[in-house]
Amino acid sequence: MEKILISACFLGEKVRYNGEIKTAPNSIIASWHEQGRLVSVCPEVSGGLPVPRAAAEQQATGLVITQAGVDVTDAFTRGANIALSLCETHNIRYALLKESSPSCGSNTIYDGSFSHRKIPGQGVTAALLSAHGIKVFSEENIDQLITILTA
Ligand code: SF4
Repeated sequence: MEKILISACFLGEKVRYNGEIKTAPNSIIASWHEQGRLVSVCPEVSGGLPVPRAAAEQQATGLVITQAGVDVTDAFTRGANIALSLCETHNIRYALLKESSPSCGSNTIYDGSFSHRKIPGQGVTAALLSAHGIKVFSEENIDQLITILTA
């Protein structure tokens, strides 16, 4: 059965930067979970960052910086590599990651100014997975992933 890498916060895990719990964006996620096809990861926690943690945004330079100016790029990169190696271990071709996150966003990210403005772009993990041929979806285009997996 095709396995899917999934953002841990979609499974209700308490991994978000603000410690809040997110609910799954689609009820099919619970079915996939029951079928044992989900491999969950929070790249930021896997990369060594705590919960809660300071919000961070990718800058035009590619570095990921907190609002206080702390460079957390290494932790983000470490987490992205852990996510990629999970995909390799489980022969994963598809990922369902949280949109707009500086790690997981696949179509949009925040613009680096901490003013809630989104721009087209990919988070560090989504970009690394995409570069390795893994198709990354988010809650905004989950229907496309469902179509692929049920075809
Ligand atoms: Fe969710 Fe990804 Fe942010 Fe972790 S890094 S809390 S999995 S969006």
